[in-house]
Amino acid sequence: MNELKVLCFLLIGSLCFTGCSGATNGESKSAERKLKIVTTTGMVTDIVLEIVGDKAEVIGLMGSTVDPHLYQPFREDGVQLNGADVIFYSGLKLEGRMGDLFEQVRQQGKPIFPVTDGISKNRLREPPEFEGHPDPHVWMDVSLWKQATEFITKKMIEVDPEHAAEYQQNWETYSAKLDELDQYAKQSIASIPAEQRVLITAHDAFGYFGEAYGLQVLGVQGISTESAAGVDDINKLVKFIVDHKIQALFVETTVSENNIQALIEGAANKGWQIRIGGNLYSDAMGEEGTYEGTYEGMIDHNVTVIVRSLGGQAPEAGLHGKLKLESDSIF
Ligand SMILES: [Zn+2]
Repeated sequence: MNELKVLCFLLIGSLCFTGCSGATNGESKSAERKLKIVTTTGMVTDIVLEIVGDKAEVIGLMGSTVDPHLYQPFREDGVQLNGADVIFYSGLKLEGRMGDLFEQVRQQGKPIFPVTDGISKNRLREPPEFEGHPDPHVWMDVSLWKQATEFITKKMIEVDPEHAAEYQQNWETYSAKLDELDQYAKQSIASIPAEQRVLITAHDAFGYFGEAYGLQVLGVQGISTESAAGVDDINKLVKFIVDHKIQALFVETTVSENNIQALIEGAANKGWQIRIGGNLYSDAMGEEGTYEGTYEGMIDHNVTVIVRSLGGQAPEAGLHGKLKLESDSIF
């Protein structure tokens, strides 16, 4: 009898380890167990949340200020992935150091999807410096991230057909928002004087952004934050800035400002003052719980800051009047 009790306890215990979602308080709630979805970057977490709403529990592994290129998974991340019902990650080698872990989980037969699998192959950039690998920063083009969101919707309907109607409805609502955001980016960037439509920033995260919205993008560093910028690159960029009288350059929340400071000083030595136009979100979003901590807010912030710094027309508080004003900003 005692043995049976112990066995029962163990069984219930192990079910809880793999099964119980966050809703452990309130016995009636646990009758319908929520799917547990584990995600990586904030951008992936946010679009998954938009689609699943309250029908699943979503656990994002990477917080704001995390650089996904360099992210070394913690032991707990492996535990989370093993305990997940579904996993979505960005892919295209963005989470470069998590590859082995993803492969292990995939071999267990768990549903695990890189959301960039949903993006048309012919829309992926393959810059020569990236040696045959596509540029992973696809979220910078809203129309591409919309494809990733549609892919998530399809996969959730496959994995959890019971809630298909909700997922479909959430997709329709959210895709309309993304269309509006895409239009805002196109129109406001087109208002920047043509000769100022140049985006200089710390690493090449904005290639898709530039192509989608008509900006020339010059990054100081290579695509990955793992390669150091050479003195030559800095000197070339200083010359470009001075020759073209570029007014502003931009820093990024996940990348060090050293290279940007070198550009500002280099230009000053040649008699041209260039200022920092603002801080952009590249590989991570703003703080959790803020508008900038959503995908929509992240893009709205970037577009609005760039447009206003380079002489175009955009409302100070952005598309929906929700952006933190520059005067309140910590940057
Ligand atoms: Zn990056």
